[in-house]
Amino acid sequence: MNTHQPDVIIVGGGIGGLSAAVALTRKGIRVRVHEKAPKFDEVGAGLQIAPNCTRILADYGLLDEVKSLGVLPQAMVMKDATDSAELTRLDLVDLERRYGFPYLVIHRSDLHGTILREAQRLGVDLRTDRDAAAYAQVTLPSGAPGARVSFADGTTDEAEVVIAADGLHSVARALVVDDEPVSSAYVAYRGTVPIEQVRHHDVSETDVVVYVGPRCHFVQYPLRGGQMFNQVAVFESPKAVRGESDWGTPDELDHAFEGLCGPVQQGLPMMWRDKWWRMFDRDPIATWVTGRVALLGDAAHPPLQYMAQGAIMAVEDGWVLAEHVAAQDATRTASGSGVDWDAALAAYEAVRTEHCRRVVTTARSWGELWHLDGVARLQRNAVLQARDPHDYTYTDWVYGPTALTPEQLPALYPTFPLARVELVESTAS
Ligand SMILES: Cc1cc2nc3c(=O)[nH]c(=O)nc-3n(C[C@H](O)[C@H](O)[C@H](O)COP(=O)(O)OP(=O)(O)OC[C@H]3O[C@@H](n4cnc5c(N)ncnc54)[C@H](O)[C@@H]3O)c2cc1C
Repeated sequence: MNTHQPDVIIVGGGIGGLSAAVALTRKGIRVRVHEKAPKFDEVGAGLQIAPNCTRILADYGLLDEVKSLGVLPQAMVMKDATDSAELTRLDLVDLERRYGFPYLVIHRSDLHGTILREAQRLGVDLRTDRDAAAYAQVTLPSGAPGARVSFADGTTDEAEVVIAADGLHSVARALVVDDEPVSSAYVAYRGTVPIEQVRHHDVSETDVVVYVGPRCHFVQYPLRGGQMFNQVAVFESPKAVRGESDWGTPDELDHAFEGLCGPVQQGLPMMWRDKWWRMFDRDPIATWVTGRVALLGDAAHPPLQYMAQGAIMAVEDGWVLAEHVAAQDATRTASGSGVDWDAALAAYEAVRTEHCRRVVTTARSWGELWHLDGVARLQRNAVLQARDPHDYTYTDWVYGPTALTPEQLPALYPTFPLARVELVESTAS
């Protein structure tokens, strides 16, 4: 185990925390990660990884491994879950040409495992069974400012900076805002099976397919070099809408997709019924840094997953912070890293809060668009079907190079013509 006094403590060993550890270690920063769970692991199934993440994985030298573990789909296709009519598509081969890096799908544990192995290879100090309970600003023995983490077992740890990558229910977030996760009343069921089990179904083994339906959607894509097939069923829980606490249960799954098209009906029995994911986000906040404690990943900006950017934003956060650390050309001294952390954290916050605010709010709008019913659904379909498949208006700001400064963010970012659709919806029966 690496026993150096760390420059940076990271709380949380999910994709966000571990990738930040890799990013900072690559820049010469000594990092210790404290994870609450007894081992570093990920639960869940597939993740979609867009070019704004594969670009960073390439920078870390991890893209080839990730490609070998995942699948490079040929297209992302959106269909109407009612009649399976195609609404629009992204040609992912063309997309790779445009952005220089691929769009891929991968099992969550494979991506997490790749980043974990890289963190181990780089000598990151990785600790488990460490439940962070409180944070404080302190003066370090060197006289420099720093932060302290106190753990549930009564122990503490200190460093120049503490990064809280402790997820949706972040303890550290209370340092900057008094808020709670926002329930969308939607719940996700997942199921991953060997590809042989769906070969007789009406599925694509090469594409990501999203069926959008009234108050629900259904996602399908291959995983693990095409050996596995991943399906995700997402729906609005009537019990959640009625304010009941026991919501999203399998009996609701059984009713949510009634009357929808054949491929969706074929996929539903493959959902795992012992675990489901209630979907929450949080309102965007402009402050992620207080003194020497900074939020990262879902702790800072948990989104609804409709843009498939949650884990990606977490990876981008660590990369941006590390680039600002490196930009300072700091010289390590006997008493610490030599980094001007106040400057680095301010630069990180200045650009990332704005980008992630856009993603979180756009994901909410995107979800509304997917789940329309009545006349609004028909108008949405008309808008999507009229879209040129090679029009990148709605992806450039997300999949393009990750901005390092606010000036590099697009001056304007596109809003889908949803307002028009909502107007019609209010008059629909
Ligand atoms: C159904 C679904 C589908 C999704 N699909 C995609 C997708 O396709 N693409 C995408 O980019 N994103 C997707 N996401 C979002 C993505 O999963 C999250 O945004 C991402 O996992 C956030 O990573 P994180 O490291 O910030 O947080 P987490 O993954 O939540 O990790 C937090 C870590 O901190 C640890 N921790 C928590 N509290 C403490 C504590 N007190 N002390 C120490 N450690 C602690 C936890 O054990 C955990 O290991 C999806 C989400 C859902 C629900």
